[in-house]
Amino acid sequence: MTTSLFDFVYLISIVLFIVGLKRLSSPDTARNGNLITAGGMALGMLVTLFYPIQSGDNNFAWIGGGLLLGSAVGWVAAKRVQMTAMPEMVSLFNGLGGACAMLISIVEFYNYPANTSLLNGAVFTTLFALFIGSISFTGSLVAYGKLQGFLRDSLVLPYPKVINLILLIAIVVLGSYFMSLPDLDFNLVSILLVLSLIYGITFVTPIGGGDMPVVISLLNSFTGIGAALAGLIYNNQVMLVGGILVGASGTILTILMCQAMNRSLFNVIVGGFSSSGGPAGEGREEVVKEATPNDLAIQLKYSQKVIIVPGYGMAVAQAQHVVHELENMLETEGVDVKYAIHPVAGRMPGHMNVLLAEADVPYPKLLELEQANKEFPSTDVVLVIGANDVVNPAAKEDASSPIYGMPILEVEQAKNVVVMKRSMNAGYAGIQNQLFFGEKTRMLFGDAKSTLNKLKEEVDQA
Ligand code: NDP
Repeated sequence: MTTSLFDFVYLISIVLFIVGLKRLSSPDTARNGNLITAGGMALGMLVTLFYPIQSGDNNFAWIGGGLLLGSAVGWVAAKRVQMTAMPEMVSLFNGLGGACAMLISIVEFYNYPANTSLLNGAVFTTLFALFIGSISFTGSLVAYGKLQGFLRDSLVLPYPKVINLILLIAIVVLGSYFMSLPDLDFNLVSILLVLSLIYGITFVTPIGGGDMPVVISLLNSFTGIGAALAGLIYNNQVMLVGGILVGASGTILTILMCQAMNRSLFNVIVGGFSSSGGPAGEGREEVVKEATPNDLAIQLKYSQKVIIVPGYGMAVAQAQHVVHELENMLETEGVDVKYAIHPVAGRMPGHMNVLLAEADVPYPKLLELEQANKEFPSTDVVLVIGANDVVNPAAKEDASSPIYGMPILEVEQAKNVVVMKRSMNAGYAGIQNQLFFGEKTRMLFGDAKSTLNKLKEEVDQA
């Protein structure tokens, strides 16, 4: 078989990547898009295995062993992971992608003849892939540790910005010196490798745990760039295009997440929100009004229109199925029930959409932010389930608030608001929420899932 036929199959897998990625943009087609992209990847790997190479040694045993082991670990991890632990898994897998780019670069440097003229594109690409892959590797491991709670936010080196700057300058200066040498110096490669690995750690360590989803998305784009560079090193189109797609989509996602939080990437990286989560009403004399499942059930049953606002707490409680059951019960009573989805509710983009889709909530029932804000004034009851920052009026009213300027769901426009959460504790931004003390607001304390189960029983009996 000629190489042009292999290249043609590569082209097919590239097309499958692009079609799959396009289909990921809507929840209706996302599952199918994921399968198409995975098919493209499988095809790309298969072609690579049989691509004619010059040395004639294909190492099938090593490759087959790696494939089997990797597939088994990936399969089990993906089957077992809880939806709330998704950012951790993405971070870990992303780190492994970075490690691949790093290892490829080390092997390539090892294989370059010692008298290689260094001032050439291939060596520069390999050096850059080493740098990007190493940062992505250790940075993602730190992000994973923070999300898992192994590493605390308080564990920060003194003067992190100065250390980062010194490391970066050292890497650029040493890298330039390396490129100017007449022969390849593998010792210098080892020093650059260690510095890049340390930079990955010092870059992510000062960033607050709550900002990790943004950082993971950024590191993900780094890994994509690393893979694209590896594609250049090997002159492999599928690796190049796959890497570019990951790099570009990771960058777009990072920008969109920052925009939805109304923060700059710089603000995220130098640390904005605290993730300590103190009490929401700290220092307040005001008291909150409490609701009971019984009176709320009656109110819901006699409402015409109810909007549910899910947040991170619904994900923690895994309450999406019970929410859907309550929605069905109210719908059979003739109540119009919809969901208002804030773009950054939860801890990852599309978090609420994924959970509600898992519970079979029909997609047309989900309202986007602007649409929901138009509908609140004509809504009888808004049920806020484990959401906090995304309904905090401080974003509109308090210029000193860290979330000032973030578009929010204006639930206080509705006739009644009921907030379900366990305590008066703050959410991700660590700030108080005036909504809880509002004239129309009542609090229903408890774990979202058990509270909703009680509410369902009361609706049934009311
Ligand atoms: P928040 O983090 O603001 O609030 C969640 C609330 O859920 C908490 O106040 C908590 O209160 C409550 N809660 C936790 N567990 C339970 C439970 N078992 N039952 C009931 N309630 C529970 O969440 P939001 O979704 O409102 O906002 C998301 C925040 O995350 C935003 O600030 C956003 O900027 C940020 N973010 C989002 C990203 C994304 O991509 N989606 C990425 C990065 C950051 P209590 O402890 O009292 O129960």
